[in-house]
Amino acid sequence: MIRKNISRVREKISLACVKAGRAPKEISIIAVSKGRTAGQIEEAIAQGITDIGENKVQEALAKYSVIRPSGSVAGAQRIKWHMVGCLQTNKAKDAVSIFDLIHSLDSRRLALEISRQAQKIGKVQDVLVEIKTSPEETKAGFSPQEALEAIRQISELKNINIKGLMTIAPAVDNPEKTRPHFRALKELKDKINQLTAHKLTVLSMGMSDDFQIAIEEGATMVRLGRAIFEGLV
Ligand SMILES: *Cc1c(COP(=O)(O)O)cnc(C)c1O
Repeated sequence: MIRKNISRVREKISLACVKAGRAPKEISIIAVSKGRTAGQIEEAIAQGITDIGENKVQEALAKYSVIRPSGSVAGAQRIKWHMVGCLQTNKAKDAVSIFDLIHSLDSRRLALEISRQAQKIGKVQDVLVEIKTSPEETKAGFSPQEALEAIRQISELKNINIKGLMTIAPAVDNPEKTRPHFRALKELKDKINQLTAHKLTVLSMGMSDDFQIAIEEGATMVRLGRAIFEGLV
């Protein structure tokens, strides 16, 4: 089942790439495995998935301790762990201990704590800055207007490395309606690269319902849960 799902996802990614004149290797699949078992994750890894996304630190820690050794398969790629959910400051220490990339950096306070905890273990933590490309009150992240100044400040921190931007598109009835939000994130990245010394390369955008559109608009990481573990409708 998971095998079929992943092969369908790869087909859809290829199609979106053809449409956009991009190469599939530009796009990383993050298999978002919240609520799934370690066994299901291992099934995905057996199909060549190398990037696992979680949205809760506790759940990630439990699975990390089980799954990490699967890197011992000869020639297998190391598994990379991604924090995609909202990160509370008091969980920063544990997050820094296991995650290769934190997608959800949404405040200066959190940035300070991540940098402080990373410094303690001699790590430079890779992060993405989360941007609110739609104005819901409940949503985490910096507004596009505050992003440039926030990134200037956060990049002063020694133990944080900003790789790019992340957004969560609003829930909509028709995936096409997500397009302006993805386009806005790409434009913001280009603007930041123009106006600063940054070379942001990563755009984490697109989930099971809208990843093809995100790819057309420049996504380099798509975060897929249901499409991998339940199948595309
Ligand atoms: C759950 C989740 C996803 C994956 O969602 P699907 O719709 O199942 O693909 C992606 N990003 C974040 C931040 C999530 O919490």
